[in-house]
Amino acid sequence: MNENDPAHEITDRALCQECDVILYRIPMTPDDPATAALLDAVAWTPTGLVACVAQQHDTGEVLMVAWMDRAAIRETLATGRVCYFSRSRNRLWRKGETSGQVQRLVELRLDCDGDALLALVDQAGAACHTGRRSCFYRAARDGVLAVIAEPIADPAELYSRSEAAP
Ligand SMILES: [Zn+2]
Repeated sequence: MNENDPAHEITDRALCQECDVILYRIPMTPDDPATAALLDAVAWTPTGLVACVAQQHDTGEVLMVAWMDRAAIRETLATGRVCYFSRSRNRLWRKGETSGQVQRLVELRLDCDGDALLALVDQAGAACHTGRRSCFYRAARDGVLAVIAEPIADPAELYSRSEAAP
């Protein structure tokens, strides 16, 4: 493979030196039968979407939830970078495309009844558009909805070129 090929570069950077996770063939070739099998097994919403939970592969942090359509799943598996479908913008949303807070895919899993995906990822920086590591920064605690995590990045800087929440 050509070393200047961006997919090759992404594969190498996705290798985790600090944990024992088995890295599968990511990115997959566009004609990998696993992609077709996954697309066939998904229980799509009436509008052709499926929910996807993103989890940091080594720490277990639950980072965010967003939607994928067929094209987003194909692109995610083929590039090794997570791509969602933005309902608000009605188009593919390549996570980190303007913020730089990309998610490299480690593995894409499907649940028992096919209505939810789990993306094991390596998240660079903040997953949330608020600049927090995780979108799940609010919790029902002690009689209030408590903010339990602070931003690790300035959202105004991350999204100055207009990447928004899904
Ligand atoms: Zn968020």
